[in-house]
Amino acid sequence: MIMSDFCERPEAMQGESICFAVLVIGLVLVVGGTATLCLSSDPVAPWQSAVASRRWLAAVWGVIGMQFLCYFVTMLSHPGRVNEWEKDKEERPTQSLTLAGAPGAAPVLSALPAAAAAAASSGVQDTSHLPHDQVCKHCKVHKPPRAHHCSICERCVSRMDHHCGWVSNCIGMNNHKAFVLFLFYTVSACVLCGIVLVRFLAHLSKPKMHRLVSKRVVVACSFLVPVSSIIILVSTVFVGGLFGWNLYLIAVNQTTIENMKLSNPGKYKNVPVYDVGVQENVRQFCGASWLDCFTLLLPIRSSRRGSSSTGRVYSPV
Ligand SMILES: [Zn+2]
Ligand SMILES: [Zn+2]
Repeated sequence: MIMSDFCERPEAMQGESICFAVLVIGLVLVVGGTATLCLSSDPVAPWQSAVASRRWLAAVWGVIGMQFLCYFVTMLSHPGRVNEWEKDKEERPTQSLTLAGAPGAAPVLSALPAAAAAAASSGVQDTSHLPHDQVCKHCKVHKPPRAHHCSICERCVSRMDHHCGWVSNCIGMNNHKAFVLFLFYTVSACVLCGIVLVRFLAHLSKPKMHRLVSKRVVVACSFLVPVSSIIILVSTVFVGGLFGWNLYLIAVNQTTIENMKLSNPGKYKNVPVYDVGVQENVRQFCGASWLDCFTLLLPIRSSRRGSSSTGRVYSPV
């Protein structure tokens, strides 16, 4: 089912996705393979006992497995259909938000006119009754709050964050959690593999230990370890930075697009603000039910209910 959206995409985008997937898999396997080689070749590392070694291997490949899972869920799933919001008739009349630059201002929008609700319930995309800024000029469909038209994907995406080239897909309401988890597991894998590599090099630099490692391993490592170190270093800096940035956006309940608009008040007027406090913002992103707690680290879309009064402000689920 998750593949259905991927199959509907233009061939060029599918090809791009496959190329990036091969690149990502290749990079991860180089780093993971090097860490495995180091783990199994280090003669004096504390993890060299059979049990400890297996635990380290399990940790490294477990994290890498989760990294792949989150990557493919992000890449293959639909980022967020705008018509999902249309079905949520019950929530529309109560939806509210405040405008940027008007602290404490009374809730302003965004209940739809009754005609829109009727059109939505009938499945007809009649947008003639809607304000100009609520209709996508490309798709000619109703564009709910926080949705944006992606010019690369050529479709409207609900709660669009940005278009990510690495997954060749938009990051939106449906796959934002999977994307953040992909960043999290990437950084975790880098840290784990980095520890293994540093310890291995530290041991290998001692002359006595050098003799204990086979020449073949030394030759392989002399190529793999520097390459992996560069991959780890670059990934940790950039992916770590992106992960931190996404945590900030979650905490303030913003998308990258909204943040960009809010940073440029001269160009963008009356940008809606959805911030309802860090705790509530996090609850709205991660979900607030007991099931969401169990699936926090899995790339499963959360219920995103939040509190009854503000939960749906986050996103028109
Ligand atoms: Zn559109
Ligand atoms: Zn896109």
